[in-house]
Amino acid sequence: MTDMATAVVQTAPETYELRELPLPEIGFDDALLELEACGICGTDVEVFEGGPNRSYPIVPGHEPLGRIIRIGDGASAKWAVKEGDRVAVHSTLTCGRCRTCRAGLRGCTAPEFSDSAIYGFRSPDVSPGLWGGFATHLYLAPEAMVLPVSLDLSVGAASLFNVMSNGVDWAIELGGVRAGMSVAILGPGPRGLATLIACKAAGAGPIAVTGLTRDGERLAMARELGADATLDVSGGNVAGAVVDALGRAPQLVIDTTPGSVDSVVDAIAMVAQKGMIVLAGLKGPGRTAPVPVDQIAAKQVTIRGVVSRALSSMQYAIELIESQRWPFDRLASDAFGLADAEQAVRSLMGDHPPLHARIEIGA
Ligand SMILES: [Zn+2]
Ligand SMILES: [Zn+2]
Repeated sequence: MTDMATAVVQTAPETYELRELPLPEIGFDDALLELEACGICGTDVEVFEGGPNRSYPIVPGHEPLGRIIRIGDGASAKWAVKEGDRVAVHSTLTCGRCRTCRAGLRGCTAPEFSDSAIYGFRSPDVSPGLWGGFATHLYLAPEAMVLPVSLDLSVGAASLFNVMSNGVDWAIELGGVRAGMSVAILGPGPRGLATLIACKAAGAGPIAVTGLTRDGERLAMARELGADATLDVSGGNVAGAVVDALGRAPQLVIDTTPGSVDSVVDAIAMVAQKGMIVLAGLKGPGRTAPVPVDQIAAKQVTIRGVVSRALSSMQYAIELIESQRWPFDRLASDAFGLADAEQAVRSLMGDHPPLHARIEIGA
């Protein structure tokens, strides 16, 4: 085995380069992963474009999947995995000691575990450098959270663990979706489709998924996955169209649309009395929505925001993928090699983004 890793390093907005980094020594409580793949999402696009307050260099890639090639005894006992196992890596490193961590909540407040303590956001200059999933190897720090994934799955299907975690987190963990619940999912992107699968797994229905005219392929996939209605809402009147399609107001609305704040107003307009809205898509810094306060009060609406995902959601997401009850291989539509990382991220920036994109080592 070579003792060097190859990693994509982002040195400035829209600037990737490939670098060789030495493989680290592994001690008692850490491990080294040979990466198989790393899922890509809208966050990678924002980082690539150089969103506000980004500092460089970083090794991008926050949805890593791979095989453990070296592991210390302590880490092996803590994570219940061994050399050769395939694992999915949670994007955040947590101290495990602060009040938030001890309460089992997400959003570690320890200063050294700030924004940069996320895989895909750390500098390669912080030893041992292998902090991102766009690379041949990933360093599993003692503070990492990893879960085993079956080797029976294709690399593509397994690489959906992060997007599925979001769907599970938003629909089940936060939305409390359950059998027979009427649901509206705003946005048919990878996260919208993952949310749909989580809702179907919980037995919810009827379910409507909204999109735009350009989302034809994604809306067709939503129907295949079991959406009762898919709506092209390019023309507006989103709330009316959703309520008509469902035959009643949705008890749960999950807004997965990035960028647009109109969807927040739509969600409040369509949600049922005492319904729940999960605001899952980031709208961008400084974006604010006019809030119809009286409507929220009159309908006694609960609105929940979310960041990251619970480890329990990641566990259930992996179980859903391992069930192979949905066409995950086709959902994992596009694979790009490490050398084509820029092309991979740019594929999400066009008008016809793939169902899902990933970096696959050796693709
Ligand atoms: Zn992501
Ligand atoms: Zn903490």
